[in-house]
Amino acid sequence: MYDVAVIGAGVIGAAVARELTKYDIKVVVLERENDVSCGTTKANSAIVHAGYDAPYGSNKGKFNAWGNRIFGEVCEALNVPFDRTGSLVCAFSEEDLLTLEALKRNGELLEIPNLEIIDQAALRAIEPNISENAIAALYAPTAGITEPWELTIAYIENAMDNGAELKLNFEVKAIENKVNFYTISDGNEQIEAKYVVNAAGVYADQIYRMVCDTPEFTIAPRRGQYYLLDKSAKGHVKTVVFPCPSKAGKGTLVVPTVDGNLLIGPDSEDLDNSQKEATETTLERLDLVKQLANQLIQNIPFRENITTFAGLRAEPSTGDFIIGFSKVAGFYNLAGMKSPGLSSAPAIGVHVAEEIATVLSAQSRVGFEPNRRKRLKFEHLNDIQRQALIKENPAYGRVICRCEMITEGEIVDAIHRNCGGTTLNGIKRRVRPGAGRCQGGFCGPRVMEILARELDVEMESICQEGQASHILIGKTKSL
Ligand SMILES: Cc1cc2nc3c(=O)[nH]c(=O)nc-3n(C[C@H](O)[C@H](O)[C@H](O)COP(=O)(O)OP(=O)(O)OC[C@H]3O[C@@H](n4cnc5c(N)ncnc54)[C@H](O)[C@@H]3O)c2cc1C
Repeated sequence: MYDVAVIGAGVIGAAVARELTKYDIKVVVLERENDVSCGTTKANSAIVHAGYDAPYGSNKGKFNAWGNRIFGEVCEALNVPFDRTGSLVCAFSEEDLLTLEALKRNGELLEIPNLEIIDQAALRAIEPNISENAIAALYAPTAGITEPWELTIAYIENAMDNGAELKLNFEVKAIENKVNFYTISDGNEQIEAKYVVNAAGVYADQIYRMVCDTPEFTIAPRRGQYYLLDKSAKGHVKTVVFPCPSKAGKGTLVVPTVDGNLLIGPDSEDLDNSQKEATETTLERLDLVKQLANQLIQNIPFRENITTFAGLRAEPSTGDFIIGFSKVAGFYNLAGMKSPGLSSAPAIGVHVAEEIATVLSAQSRVGFEPNRRKRLKFEHLNDIQRQALIKENPAYGRVICRCEMITEGEIVDAIHRNCGGTTLNGIKRRVRPGAGRCQGGFCGPRVMEILARELDVEMESICQEGQASHILIGKTKSL
């Protein structure tokens, strides 16, 4: 029997799992997909918000501010990129100026450090490509950018290094409350756990309904669409640039990524409850994103676009993050984790683990290893370091992805770690072959060969992403 079963391996479930392993607690993570970070966590703006905008007194306000404070420390231990670029909320009218003042006051209540309203000249000095119509901005130096999927993979890898188990392809279909423990089933396998943590993203309401006939909340999907521009657009903005927020959210923004691309989006589109898989992009909404971004930043080089994508926010009927033990004993909800869920994840992980360790009377784990083994990035090494590495392991001398300069050695390492990649997109999220200009056109087949060889499976069984996304159907000469 497990002490805790965490349902969902997005950034929230992953953070909770890792923090739980700091205690003597037997943890299992159940994920319906064939990899971690395949839900909302793989498609968002990747911003670690400073935390001035969620209302003072709300869960969002509390956990964003706390999460931002500890984000650097977590990323350092887990070897995840994090860059405190700062953020700018831009004002275009007198009314917007009042919004900046209100955001600053709210941020000060939440103790967000060094917030400053800057004038047009100062704004232009930071972002020369800002629209000529922008008249001032709220500058928040503690905001930053990260890699959400890398953080999730790192959290799970570190949790597994510390004894947690991960069950992929385990779609929770039934949960039975046996009074002192739960049985959780995917239709084939059944596991038992004393406590359940529901971190199932847009499906958190459906999971809760498996144990509660009168749930207090529902979760609706709210879609956001993006453009991702090539690294040739690097430097077009240096900070996270927002318009003033509205009822629909933080607005369409322009932001650098930690890998040097330029990200533009999202829009905000309410979908109905039956559309929890609707991650397709649409021409109409992408045109709207382009139009809104062009009002914020001048001369965005949209011709450098390399891909578009969409993510689904988990919009809770309560308006705030739902965090805590539910009215069903032993069942803990982490629901409605829309933005700033990524920014808040480290703090949510610490908080939930403390609460569960208390009810389990669990002691700290002796020998807990907080650090994740560093991932070598060949591109970032100097010539001497490269030569030494290739001498030690010739696989680092074979470049598989020329756009991103990724070597075979890095791909092999990403396959064989705890929580290793098994799909093309899984390898792309871990080490980036296919994330560059050609989007895998050249390196895709070579990555498949390496996956098949290292996992000792047929090439035909390698998937792009989900369980049914096979790429090859057989050998051409046998057709
Ligand atoms: C457009 C957009 C922009 C955003 N921008 C930001 C931002 O810049 N900064 C920020 O802080 N936040 C941002 N967010 C919010 C952030 O992305 C989310 O808060 C975070 O990713 C939520 O993580 P999660 O683990 O709760 O959900 P998810 O990542 O969706 O994880 C839930 C997991 O549960 C699994 N699951 C579902 N049902 C089952 C089942 N029956 N059995 C087993 N597993 C199941 C899913 O497969 C999934 O892997 C944004 C969100 C969106 C959509």
